[in-house]
Amino acid sequence: MKDLRNEILEVISNSRRILVAAHIYPDADALGSELALGNILTSLGKEVCLYSEEPVSHILDFLPGSDQLVNTLPPPTSFDCAISLDCGDRHRLGKAVDALLTVHPFVVVDHHTGHKDFGDLRWVDAGRSSTGEMIFALSRQLEVDVSYEAAYCLYAAIVSDTGSFKYSSTTPETFRVAGELLQKGINPQEISGYLFDNFSKNRLQLLQNVLATLELYENDRIAFIHVSRKMFDRTGTCGADTELFINYPRSLSTVKVAIFIKEIDSNMLGVSMRAKGECDVARLADEFGGGGHRNAAGFKIIGETIKSLRLKLLRELIPLV
Ligand code: 5GP
Ligand code: MN
Repeated sequence: MKDLRNEILEVISNSRRILVAAHIYPDADALGSELALGNILTSLGKEVCLYSEEPVSHILDFLPGSDQLVNTLPPPTSFDCAISLDCGDRHRLGKAVDALLTVHPFVVVDHHTGHKDFGDLRWVDAGRSSTGEMIFALSRQLEVDVSYEAAYCLYAAIVSDTGSFKYSSTTPETFRVAGELLQKGINPQEISGYLFDNFSKNRLQLLQNVLATLELYENDRIAFIHVSRKMFDRTGTCGADTELFINYPRSLSTVKVAIFIKEIDSNMLGVSMRAKGECDVARLADEFGGGGHRNAAGFKIIGETIKSLRLKLLRELIPLV
């Protein structure tokens, strides 16, 4: 079988100016992969533009190089190629999707189960724990020795997307890559500290508010939590502060599916879903126009209230648990 990565290597080698983008509201895998790839390509003498629709959130600004992202897209015609990371669906590229996709060749590197094809050249591997793990493999093929900074970002990407090597997506290769990254001198305790033990008092107060909304159904097999704009205003927090909250209802021993409904603005709700075992939330997310992985997926929806959406989801979930 033809190794797609060879074609990607060729595109990179033929390009001087490269645009790199990841999904909107980037998590540590998206952003860590983007920064690491930027670092790798720069070391190859490429001129790189790291694009992100929004400024880096305070949750992830510890990642080395996060100050190098640009929030305004330069003229797409100025690039020889573009690379999209951790994006399972073109719409996840955000408002600039149409402009971004005018860059050719457009390369896609992703690990989402329900990946919906876009771009010119795709390396999609749902067997990979994270896009970070794929970027490490790419660095090997490019024969680049990853720097301390790139290793730092890739480790953050992997540890975050595997839930600290807990999820079923963790493979022997994941540990091998993590081991290689440690050999670059990074400190795993420091990175996990930034990712998981770095709450502000306001964020903990927001968590108190959110956990108070817990509702359980079907003999505690389905859990719902939500966050409202009011809770953000009351605690002086924002959407990025809700990262990891879904793990609390998920942690309940009886829970098969945990759902977190977030009021993004007065008309739009964001939904995070987590499942254990056989339950496939990527399929459910797909029905609502979103996507993700079998055990972790999400979508955005307009024109629903938290209550009406909970009822709708509950109806779909009951036969699954
Ligand atoms: P999270 O709940 O952490 O935001 O996302 C869990 C998984 O679902 C991630 O892999 C993420 O890419 C995917 N996901 C979350 N929200 C959306 C969405 O609105 N659309 C799509 N296609 N995927 C999403
Ligand atoms: Mn990912």
